[in-house]
Amino acid sequence: MAVPPGGKAHEAVAARARGASPRGAAAPAARGNSRLTVLSGPSGVGKSTVVAELRRCRPEIWISVSVTTRKPRPGEVNGREYYFVDDREFDRMAAAGELLEWAEFAGNKYGTPREPVQRRLEQGLPALLEIDLAGARQVRRAMKDDALLVFLMPPSWEELVRRLTGRGTEPPEVIERRLRVAREELAAAGEFDETLVNTSVEEVCRRLVALISNYR
Ligand code: ADP
Ligand code: 5GP
Repeated sequence: MAVPPGGKAHEAVAARARGASPRGAAAPAARGNSRLTVLSGPSGVGKSTVVAELRRCRPEIWISVSVTTRKPRPGEVNGREYYFVDDREFDRMAAAGELLEWAEFAGNKYGTPREPVQRRLEQGLPALLEIDLAGARQVRRAMKDDALLVFLMPPSWEELVRRLTGRGTEPPEVIERRLRVAREELAAAGEFDETLVNTSVEEVCRRLVALISNYR
């Protein structure tokens, strides 16, 4: 079923992004007409690398910038990788309903600002979120089949450990914590609509772009 941009399907998606009850919104959009893609996967699998490559080679794809209470890593720029906020500001945003979804991950809070996503969807334009499993589940609950959930998988467990350790951005206890969460996340891969194995960043980007494009 083809629905033109700005048609009922997009109104439904945008209404859900606004937090409106799906019951009160227009009829749910058929798969294939929606424009919200979620990229998830265990810490260290390469999500940020893929997102950075997408930004570089496909600047037309809009990627949501999350807020986080985590401290910036070397090279991370406020407003590019994340908006870095303190706990108080994060809690204020969550309480004010300014976050589409949020979750606590390995000791820090992360959330998607609602308004920019809502604006994109209202314009009938695609949006990409890079978020954790808990966030992806919230999006699935809120948007049902109006969101495409993509899981990024490591080629092997050993390679995941190698990447997370090799990145050198977290102390051993944080790596341990992230690996514990990673086991749970890998076990939930079946909840996602698509799985991509991150062997080659370029290949993952190509496939992701195809998924986003075919989803229009
Ligand atoms: P995430 O955002 O999922 O936590 P990162 O993007 O920070 O993961 O990647 C973790 C580490 O793995 C980084 O050092 C990155 O350079 C490396 N990496 C990412 N993708 C690949 C790949 N396809 N092959 C080899 N190394 C990779
Ligand atoms: P990192 O600290 O490595 O940048 O991110 C840790 C985890 O938080 C990753 O799984 C990442 O996908 C997730 N994350 C980043 N932004 C958000 C967000 O806005 N919401 C949720 N739920 N998770 C996020």
